[in-house]
Amino acid sequence: MAKHSKCCICESYLSKNEIGLNKKLIGKSNDKYFCLNCLAVHLDTTVDDLQEKIEDFKSEGCTLFG
Ligand SMILES: [Zn+2]
Repeated sequence: MAKHSKCCICESYLSKNEIGLNKKLIGKSNDKYFCLNCLAVHLDTTVDDLQEKIEDFKSEGCTLFG
């Protein structure tokens, strides 16, 4: 995986947590990543909800999140 992954829509750089969330919600085989804003639109949800999911995954001890 490239060191600096970009959002496939708006090309903003992605944090480790954003990439981890993409892998969790879209799937590891997917090579396109979304930033939180674009992921929220893609999944028809809100950025707040996605941030909550990140916290949930972190509290489960998932290594994809830092
Ligand atoms: Zn984006």
